[in-house]
Amino acid sequence: MNDLPLASYHPKSMLRAPAHKVLRPRFPVVDMHNHSEWQGSWQVTNLDQLVAEMDKAGVVARVDLDGGNGDRLLRHLDFFRSRYPERFVVFASCDWAQHLPYDNFGERMAAELARSVKAGAEGLKVWKELGLTLRDNQGRVIAVDDERLVPLFETAADLNVPILIHFADPIAFFQPLDNHNERYEELMEHPDWHFYGDQFPPFDALQQQFARLLTRHPRTTFIGAHVASLAEDLRGTGQLLEGHPNLYVDIAARLAELGRQPYTAADFLTQYADRVVFGLDSWPADADEYRVYYRFLETRDEYFPYWADEDSPVGESGRWQIYGVGLEDDVLQKIYYANTVNIIPRLKAAVEAAQG
Ligand SMILES: [Zn+2]
Repeated sequence: MNDLPLASYHPKSMLRAPAHKVLRPRFPVVDMHNHSEWQGSWQVTNLDQLVAEMDKAGVVARVDLDGGNGDRLLRHLDFFRSRYPERFVVFASCDWAQHLPYDNFGERMAAELARSVKAGAEGLKVWKELGLTLRDNQGRVIAVDDERLVPLFETAADLNVPILIHFADPIAFFQPLDNHNERYEELMEHPDWHFYGDQFPPFDALQQQFARLLTRHPRTTFIGAHVASLAEDLRGTGQLLEGHPNLYVDIAARLAELGRQPYTAADFLTQYADRVVFGLDSWPADADEYRVYYRFLETRDEYFPYWADEDSPVGESGRWQIYGVGLEDDVLQKIYYANTVNIIPRLKAAVEAAQG
């Protein structure tokens, strides 16, 4: 056993610390960040089953970020909204392939957003390809704050719809893939998530582009996905929030980061309780996936898995476990639903229905 491969090493914690399973959240939850399609294929086969899992987990409403545009948008709206109109919100997405060949792609995308909102979309999702891999018709990478996109972000403000934007990724994804990289196993599994090299901008450049975008569009509401890709640096996230009142952040898929710094995370979530929204980013999503988040947010349990699948010996993001932050009720309420209701007031009905 003195040459055990890392992938075969599955240590079991012998810690006998108190453990609380939180089956239901203390307050209604709105999931601001979730999906229904992955790489073009539909993931939600049975809407009633999805709603049953949401009910089990105390999730009163959910935002589907994969609405796309045109016919696809109508399909999503019809699927989610025809039977459960109060419990689902659909965001449009950017159809870059259709517009980037044109010099005026920003105007074209703004016009498309207006059409999508008219059809029923209640926000726009921007994916991390912006700033990383998308190129204009001259072959140049399009920065997150590219001026040609001004019409798109201004139109969102005019239409009063929020932008949920995933830019950049974990800091380690921008580092060399060597024996020091804390996401080594994950990047070996997903080599396309590795953005190190001359063809990609450095992590800090993307953060600076995003800050400039927020400054340029103060009327536009932005939700920075995954703690604005800065969960490893919550002081930095705090500064970003302080400097830009038009920014919220979601906590989707960042339990591994938040939960390994429980003192800092508890302070951050409390100090910026008005600016943080709940999201899961896992689909179709069963109740147990939500419950890991509740355990993190509501308990002070120590050193527990940040993933839900108990058969999985190690977490995807790295070989560590997490600690609960035991938030106060008023903070929980804001993160679970109140901030999202501020952004999308229509969701108030779902929260009130759950409160009885
Ligand atoms: Zn996502």
